[in-house]
Amino acid sequence: MICTKCGQENPDEAYACARCGRKLQSARRAGPETGGEEDGGRPAFRPFRPFEEEPSPLGKYFESLAYACILAAGITAGIIYGVFWPIYVLGGIVGLVAWLRRI
Ligand SMILES: [Zn+2]
Repeated sequence: MICTKCGQENPDEAYACARCGRKLQSARRAGPETGGEEDGGRPAFRPFRPFEEEPSPLGKYFESLAYACILAAGITAGIIYGVFWPIYVLGGIVGLVAWLRRI
């Protein structure tokens, strides 16, 4: 295989590059030729990342804005009705959801 760092031709079974010493096995795993290998490892990660369906930062911005609106509405309602304890509950819930979604 060809070293991804220096381009040196190495035997396929070589663990590291003969010229620069770069580990060839890890390079092979990261290479585009072994897409099947990577696909085999990926689905195991997916169930643990249910919140990354929306990679757009703009979507996250609007989402955090929505949480801020919910929080503001709750505070306003609390002030209007003279009840303040729901603000702390709402703040806790919104803060937890925002933290879970890593905003
Ligand atoms: Zn090399």
